[in-house]
Amino acid sequence: FQQELIMSEKYQMIGHLAASISHEIRNPLTTTRGFLQLMGKEGLDRETLNRYRKHAFEGVDLASTIITDYLNFSKPNEEKSLLLDVQMEIDGIMPWLQPYSALSNIEIEIQHLSRERLLIRGESKKLQQCLLNVMKNAIESMPDGGKLTVHTQLVQNSIQILIHDTGAGMDKSQVKRLGKPYFTTKENGTGLGLMVVMSMIKKMNGKILFRSKPNEGTICELHFKRAEL
Ligand code: ADP
Ligand code: MG
Repeated sequence: FQQELIMSEKYQMIGHLAASISHEIRNPLTTTRGFLQLMGKEGLDRETLNRYRKHAFEGVDLASTIITDYLNFSKPNEEKSLLLDVQMEIDGIMPWLQPYSALSNIEIEIQHLSRERLLIRGESKKLQQCLLNVMKNAIESMPDGGKLTVHTQLVQNSIQILIHDTGAGMDKSQVKRLGKPYFTTKENGTGLGLMVVMSMIKKMNGKILFRSKPNEGTICELHFKRAEL
């Protein structure tokens, strides 16, 4: 885990996520529509039909992933910054991870290392969207199983969430590209998850950093300023 980069201040993020979402979702839906149309042609052999069908499914699956990465918890501008208990926010996200972790035999360990309440100022939905995207990536990096560990800790006035996986890891050049729109190494990835994370962390005046090593795993750290009651 030698490589370390502080990311959140690095990019001017796309300002209005909502505006670009309709565009993002329309693309795969258009593809799906095209293949459904093709399937209506007469005299198609079984193999071709199956291929069209497969592409049609891929289109709706991608649209669905985009919704998860972008919008699972977002209600634009409905929420105000409130005091959030970081440990409770993490516990609240766990049921959402179940469908992902159960598929690939992943053990999840949560460790809240501070006995004090860890409060930050922010919007619950935004924080949960960030946690979901980062933890989903961690799980997706361990297709053959592994361990996802989530720590919270207080270091001076900084509240830190550490998300550690034992997955595929990344090399330096991949770490550098994290958060850039459409950077993905996954066959069915969107490359939008971390872009969304970074723009939200920035809005919460937080920091995100990654340490990673190929074939060993990745640690993602989220840092926030501690808020007083
Ligand atoms: P997506 O998940 O759709 O690919 P993201 O923006 O969430 O898009 O992630 C971009 C890329 O960053 C991933 O495709 C992957 O290559 C890399 N990545 C992110 N988190 C991890 C991780 N925990 N372990 C290994 N690679 C990761
Ligand atoms: Mg992702």
